[in-house]
Amino acid sequence: MSETFVVVGGDAAGMAAASKAKRDDPDLEIVVFEKGEWVSYGACGLPYYIKGEIQSLEDLVSVTPDAFREERDIDLRTGHEVVSVDPDERTVTAERVDGASTAGRDESAATAEHGDTVTQPYDHLLLATGAEATVPPIEGVGLEGVYTLGSMSDGKELREYVARAREEGELQQPDRGPACQFLEDCRGPVGVVGGGYIGVEMAEALAANDFEVHLFQRSDRLLPVFSEATSDEIATHLREQDVVVHLGSAVEALVAEDADGSGDDEVAAIVTADDRVSVDMALLGTGVRPRTALAEAAGIELGETGAIATDTYRETNVADVYAAGDCAEATHVVTGEPTYVPLALTANRHGRAIGQTVAGTPTEGGGVAGTAAIKAFEIEAARTGLIDHEEARAAGFDPVSKTITANSRAGYYPEGGEVTVTLTADRTTERVLGASLVSEYGEGAVHRSHAIVGAITEGTAVSNLENYDLAYAPPFNTTWDPILVAAKVLGGQL
Ligand code: FAD
Repeated sequence: MSETFVVVGGDAAGMAAASKAKRDDPDLEIVVFEKGEWVSYGACGLPYYIKGEIQSLEDLVSVTPDAFREERDIDLRTGHEVVSVDPDERTVTAERVDGASTAGRDESAATAEHGDTVTQPYDHLLLATGAEATVPPIEGVGLEGVYTLGSMSDGKELREYVARAREEGELQQPDRGPACQFLEDCRGPVGVVGGGYIGVEMAEALAANDFEVHLFQRSDRLLPVFSEATSDEIATHLREQDVVVHLGSAVEALVAEDADGSGDDEVAAIVTADDRVSVDMALLGTGVRPRTALAEAAGIELGETGAIATDTYRETNVADVYAAGDCAEATHVVTGEPTYVPLALTANRHGRAIGQTVAGTPTEGGGVAGTAAIKAFEIEAARTGLIDHEEARAAGFDPVSKTITANSRAGYYPEGGEVTVTLTADRTTERVLGASLVSEYGEGAVHRSHAIVGAITEGTAVSNLENYDLAYAPPFNTTWDPILVAAKVLGGQL
């Protein structure tokens, strides 16, 4: 009799696993439970959908539910939330979520009615339940006009907000904030709380729609997982684009009262220790938390990061139960320790590896380097590995960093710009530990980071990176590419 592989969660990790397992072993019966109606969607594209560069939410879907069912022979049950796992009986229980397909399609179970219950036996089980946007424990987060961006329905609501504001509001002559002093006209103002990836991407999306945007960041720099040089360049650029960047500004409350004391249930201002900024809308971009309740209730162990702990095959402490993607830990390629870096490639890669394992070929899927990229208006940046010295020291290294700025193309070649590279290595072993790169958009900071990912993954010394035989031609770089320059300078220091 054929075995059954049950998957909980129908996005990157879940559908990668289901597809790979079916491809490798067509006899496997595969059942996927997804509580929403969207599957295999690219949440990463949501800021660009809200900005207006992508016209339809459907464009973010890579494979439709019908294609999974009809072409890939996967028993995909959308609108089904798995509410418990019984590892002794090897079953999961799912409830049908009525209404999931109406309002925003991936409405959470909290707002949808629950219908029929089904109990599904499994031989192999994957928890790919993802992560959810965190909401900070401050006053006013429940007010109208306060948004998060963690799901397709969040994206839909934000796009509708932007469309409404565009339809209703004539552009106003600026008279309120410092942002509009450079803009001829603007709408809003709006506040973005949190200067991480989503905060920065959404600042661009909103500013591109002529909103006066205030970006609040608790620490003294944006994108703290990048180098200081990268953070500073992005903050400077955002300010050049008329975003008001409030650094060192922990938001203490969202309030409904206007400055004159009037107000209803709608957010009207963002309050920090030393400021109060009027807003028509607030977006909380304060991070994500792994969805682990299902796993915890089933006795599946979490790691120190708070995400589900797995071995190198992504198997949990319970036999034949796997976890992957934003709900699970992964192993850091530099420290060798468990880490939590919820990003799309890891979800896809680990999901695929689990599919292969379940289909009979044990596959590890590899570690993570914390590699990430971001675009902010006309700037691009990437980071990988260990950059923060405190973090590197905690992992037993003696870190040393150098930052260089070099031409992105041959000096005589038209156009071009500069790339700033911060390279970090271990003083004792000279091993490359990490890097952060920033350049104008299109000048290659992100693609250049790939060579450094290779170096840190393989445990390469700076002197070897310095001798990497990188491609060169004037339209793309200088003979000594900026990352080779960085390696030479850091090597000299070592
Ligand atoms: P998810 O995509 O979260 O999917 C989990 C699924 O499980 C959901 O569909 C959920 O409805 C379902 N589910 C949960 N619990 C249950 C249950 N009990 N029963 C049934 N179904 C359940 N990553 C990058 O690498 N680069 C980027 O540029 C980037 N940009 C992003 C921008 C935004 C706005 C967001 C929100 C994320 C971004 N990410 C980015 C992160 C990336 O989207 C995630 O890493 C990836 O989607 C993780 O996939 P996953 O399958 O683990 O989880």
